[in-house]
Amino acid sequence: MYANVLIEYNVKSLDKCFTYKIPDKFKNTIKPGMQVIVPFGKTICNGFVLSISDTYNDEYEIKSIYQIKNEEIVLNDELLELGKYLKETTLCSLISAYEAMLPSDIKVRSNKDHNKYVSYILLNWSAYDTEKYIEEHKRSKKQIAILEELIEFKEILKTNISGTSLNDLLKIGIVREEKRQVYRILNNDKKVDNIKLNEEQEQVYNRILFDQNTVYLLHGITGSGKTEVYIKLIKKALKLKKTALLLVPEISLTAQIIKRFYNVFGNDIAVLHSGLSNGEKQDEYLKIIRGEVSVVVGTRSSSFAPLTNIGIIIVDEEHSETYKQENNPRYDAIEVLKKRSAYHNCPLVLGSATPSLDSYARATKGVYQLLELKSRAKKSILPIIHLVNMEDEYKKRNMIISDLLKELMAERLKNHEQIILLLNRRGYSPILTCSNCGFTYKCPHCDINLTYHKTSNHLRCHYCGYTVLYKEKCPNCGDEALNDLGLGTEKLEQEINKLFKEARIIRMDADTTTKKNSHEDIINKFMNHEYDILLGTQMISKGLDFPLVTLVGIINADQTLNMPDFKANERTFQLLSQTSGRAGRSDIPGEVVIQTMNPTDYTLNCIKDNNYAMFYKHEMINRKNMKYPPYYFLATIKVTSRDYELLSKESLKIASYIKREYKSGEVLGPTMALMYKVNNYFNMQIIIKYRKLDNLYQVLKTIDEMYILDKKINVEIDTRPKSI
Ligand code: ADP
Ligand code: ZN
Repeated sequence: MYANVLIEYNVKSLDKCFTYKIPDKFKNTIKPGMQVIVPFGKTICNGFVLSISDTYNDEYEIKSIYQIKNEEIVLNDELLELGKYLKETTLCSLISAYEAMLPSDIKVRSNKDHNKYVSYILLNWSAYDTEKYIEEHKRSKKQIAILEELIEFKEILKTNISGTSLNDLLKIGIVREEKRQVYRILNNDKKVDNIKLNEEQEQVYNRILFDQNTVYLLHGITGSGKTEVYIKLIKKALKLKKTALLLVPEISLTAQIIKRFYNVFGNDIAVLHSGLSNGEKQDEYLKIIRGEVSVVVGTRSSSFAPLTNIGIIIVDEEHSETYKQENNPRYDAIEVLKKRSAYHNCPLVLGSATPSLDSYARATKGVYQLLELKSRAKKSILPIIHLVNMEDEYKKRNMIISDLLKELMAERLKNHEQIILLLNRRGYSPILTCSNCGFTYKCPHCDINLTYHKTSNHLRCHYCGYTVLYKEKCPNCGDEALNDLGLGTEKLEQEINKLFKEARIIRMDADTTTKKNSHEDIINKFMNHEYDILLGTQMISKGLDFPLVTLVGIINADQTLNMPDFKANERTFQLLSQTSGRAGRSDIPGEVVIQTMNPTDYTLNCIKDNNYAMFYKHEMINRKNMKYPPYYFLATIKVTSRDYELLSKESLKIASYIKREYKSGEVLGPTMALMYKVNNYFNMQIIIKYRKLDNLYQVLKTIDEMYILDKKINVEIDTRPKSI
């Protein structure tokens, strides 16, 4: 018997199987999807068994498998197939596809045993023999106590017994030690489950059919109770003796949702997200492989959770861009889940208050089934949204906070209600310039201004991390005329502090959330009303349900609106609607103030009227005119090098190769990427717009292969870019 083994080397040029002989002793144990250790060249390597065959026809001498690394079948048939699909559609190597599916401790490279064990002490002799022994021999009081306890309770935790007396008993052989694996995460929350679906939720629930592969788009306004619909659907899957998979965007921000799931499903659930330690991840993974849980809740990578017999797959906040992986393999989790739901013949439910244009377009064409929740679950109403023209405010010298927002904030603080403020830029101020000579602080390695961080008194590059100490004099002319222009969360915090001296403010952005659990910490404290105002970047926009928040302020709406990307409007609509949706979720109605220089902008006005359909209609016209998705598909090729001349030459070569070989689309570029220099590397970009795939993947694959071994030029191909 022979095994085809894919070895661990993550070198694209080596991405193929090697045949090994299966030694007799492993004949009955080795199965496809297992991890084995094999000799390779002069070393030994880990690898996956992809298939097993009886015959072997190669002229070389064949080596034998050394060892089985892991008794579990970590890649079942479905996942083995899925890897090939990833390779084909994202142009990654097969080994990197399989590695993306596994938590790092189970990955082929790792050889350590990361299981956590607890030791128990048990009687090795019968109770009768033990009693007789106690009668006939003189033993210490302590030892007799241990033995008697064991006769009564069968086993004791080893940590509860002290050293020497136990060691003697072990030596004599009366007792033995047994190591048992334990899982790190155990949920002790009590089951509470008393929410009954309202009529609208019930209707949506009833429209979703099991044992049938349909994709549903659940468009439900913020606070409409989508989570409860998910829970009921999952319960139904479990009743049908099937399993369920729920994807959430960034779990640290959705701690609330996880808690709700623990409450309902107790220990029948495994969670997988980046906030877990490697050991915790591995444990959760083992629970799934061993079939010990029926529900998995997790972020992007859990789209590969090795559940079998899946009855339903749900993606919450389906528009979230965290579902797309931005490094190799560049997969889109929703596409992966479409594959999986087809394999299991089960429904796939995509839920959002602000669906992506792609998904909504599919729903209007009938490719997806559209389901809608139009009212909030608790009889609250949607917040009133005000657009404030900042041009008028500037004339009044209100540079940061408008009169209206100030007034409403004062009112909320007086009523002991809470406020959320969104400003999508961290640091103190994004630009420092000298009003004498015009000098601006720029990163020496990247094409971007340095951001001033006042708390630490540093200037920092948000791309490469370059940091310099801030000095009050201009480094160019020596004048003390440095001005901070623009606004970051740090400065906003300081400003609010000045305006409302009594208010308790907490800031949430990349700078205040570097420690493990700091997200959760901030959220819990705000939830417990230890703070009045939560201000932060887009981190604060998602999935949070604070009953006391009755006011949301968007400090600078133009910032996302003016991003040079075809998705700027869509992202603004999503971000601002989601953030607005945090207001007035309970009994007290909410209000939202959006500050902008463009109060007539149609995206902002659609947000104000809470009119997704209108936004969709309008934006689709843009996309059609500009030949962007969902009318056209995109592929991008990013070419990077330290050598600018070489980069220009090679980029041109690549573009003209595509133009020559692929006739069914439009090739744009090469152009300088938006960030043309990062960390001393220059970036160029080629964009392909197409409607018919034709031989595109073949052409792109050829390009990829041409540069695999090139050390001076790096080529990154994205067959499903979320932005350009
Ligand atoms: P969404 O995810 O759609 O924004 P949630 O699922 O967070 O909304 O629900 C919003 C709030 O409404 C939550 O506090 C939830 O407990 C509550 N809720 C949902 N469904 C019901 C229901 N049928 N009856 C009472 N409260 C509900
Ligand atoms: Zn930099």
